[in-house]
Amino acid sequence: CGIFGVLGTKEAANFVALGLHALQHRGQEAGGIVSHDPEMGFNSARRFGYVRDNFTSQKVMETLPGPLAIGHVRYSTAGSKGQTAIRDVQPFFGEFAMGGAAIAHNGNITNANALRRELIERGSIFQSSSDSECIIHLMARSLQRNIPERMEDALRRVEGAFSVVAMTRTKLIGVRDPLGVRPLVLGKVGDGWALSSETCALDIIGAEFVREIEPGEMVVISEKYGVQSHFPFRRQPSKFCIFEHVYFSRPDSILGGRSVYETRENIGRELAKESPVEADLVCPVPDSGTPAAIGFSLESGIPYAMGIIRNQYMGRTFIEPTESIRNMGVRLKLNVNRALIKGKRVILVDDSVVRGTTSRKIKEMILDAGAAEVHFRIASPPTAWPCFYGVDTPDRDKLLAATMSEEEMRDHLGVDSLKFISLDGLYRAVGEAKGRDKACPQYCDACFSGEYPVIPADKIDDGFVM
Ligand code: 5GP
Ligand code: SF4
Ligand code: MG
Repeated sequence: CGIFGVLGTKEAANFVALGLHALQHRGQEAGGIVSHDPEMGFNSARRFGYVRDNFTSQKVMETLPGPLAIGHVRYSTAGSKGQTAIRDVQPFFGEFAMGGAAIAHNGNITNANALRRELIERGSIFQSSSDSECIIHLMARSLQRNIPERMEDALRRVEGAFSVVAMTRTKLIGVRDPLGVRPLVLGKVGDGWALSSETCALDIIGAEFVREIEPGEMVVISEKYGVQSHFPFRRQPSKFCIFEHVYFSRPDSILGGRSVYETRENIGRELAKESPVEADLVCPVPDSGTPAAIGFSLESGIPYAMGIIRNQYMGRTFIEPTESIRNMGVRLKLNVNRALIKGKRVILVDDSVVRGTTSRKIKEMILDAGAAEVHFRIASPPTAWPCFYGVDTPDRDKLLAATMSEEEMRDHLGVDSLKFISLDGLYRAVGEAKGRDKACPQYCDACFSGEYPVIPADKIDDGFVM
């Protein structure tokens, strides 16, 4: 998901709508905005679909007045599966002892089922099926005397991955979990402030990138006191999601002080060094494979070409929640550039193989178009484990790499060769010259390594074996 918040500008909700539009790649199912105005109080709007279709009309934006607003774009990983219900669309808002608060959450709470059971037993009334709603109820029950402290209280009980943007009547609050699994950055916009999942959304509103919120940090921002920072959790080595670098974030964002685009190009270079192959063309599977394909081409000297053309009016296929839509999605979204491909030995570069749906379809399309050979190079290691921290990977038995070796996957996909970047190669590409520190990995890479930095308690209750 994508989260964004603004304090201290006129019509903050308009800025939030723009920010969410720039974060649309992080979630396309639904979006919501909550604003606060001294006279009009809290207001909210939640809608299915794209930001640009919902939060651009004056009619809607007029209902969200005030100098303070937060928003969320949703991609369902927890809560209602298949089809998002409007009640699961964030931000969540609640009114309790200290006044109202709204929260927008990116990540996944790994002990949400247990918390929910406990809260319901103690009388909480849940409005949604979302894990994120627990935070509001825990805040309502806290005995602390102000909302930021109640939020600290609440988040100390929460396990898993959370980047949160929240607001009270006068404050904008940003928090990252102690491991810093999901991103969150701080920006300055005129006299006001912005919080965003990624820097690309600061750019769109002309905000200046100030810094990242640190793992385990909470910032409380008010017009009166500016940015106040503290660290409410026990300090731990950070475990930022390495897959943000590979796929999830936009290439024009800066993560951990590194350009995502550059990292992806590095991944392509590493791949070319690790798994070279003779061929005529390097083609990306657009858009997610593009920077890595450019890197592969630069390193290998094999020309880069657009062998597959993407229909710009389709969203991210993976993010469509049901299997049948996903199956169609590949064809709706991608088409082969036949004139270019015919008779050529083609290297296809994609970011990941999850179920193998995309790669299989693309191989068929490329062979149909008369390619002489098809070689897949993948910009991440085999995805053999599900993510429980906010990326919607399917159950383990649906992951190709969970049950097949690289050879078996190659046969299954029916391609001439298939190579994934090594874990160490990926770490080198993100700037870790010595590769992955086995004793204490510098990132979360659980979907590739099976080493989960936070025990997924709910999943283990459900029978998941680590
Ligand atoms: P597959 O078709 O193998 O199931 O999925 C791989 C494709 O899904 C890749 O092209 C990748 O760009 C895309 N993708 C979109 N969202 C995600 C995600 O959240 N996780 C992973 N691993 N791949 C994703
Ligand atoms: Fe990111 Fe994978 Fe870790 Fe999930 S399991 S947070 S996708 S690295
Ligand atoms: Mg893709």
